[in-house]
Amino acid sequence: MPTKSLTTISTIADLITNDMTLSLYCSGCRQWRDIDADKWVAEGRGDADFTRVRFKCEQCGTVADKQLRANSTKAGYHYPLTNIAMSQG
Ligand SMILES: [Zn+2]
Repeated sequence: MPTKSLTTISTIADLITNDMTLSLYCSGCRQWRDIDADKWVAEGRGDADFTRVRFKCEQCGTVADKQLRANSTKAGYHYPLTNIAMSQG
């Protein structure tokens, strides 16, 4: 019987390992943005558990909705990266 392994994707580094990205939606600004996972890892925040982090829009303060997606760059579309416009909080 073949064995199956369970993949857990909960940290920023997991996103890169599994070729995924985290998109954030601000309902106040009605904008989607992708987090810059490479930048988070470069800044030593690769173990941040994005399932527990609340991302707030720096423009209006709304807590963003999170959506896990396949790596949007490879899927042929992408949202602007959000490290500048959204903050962890
Ligand atoms: Zn906003």
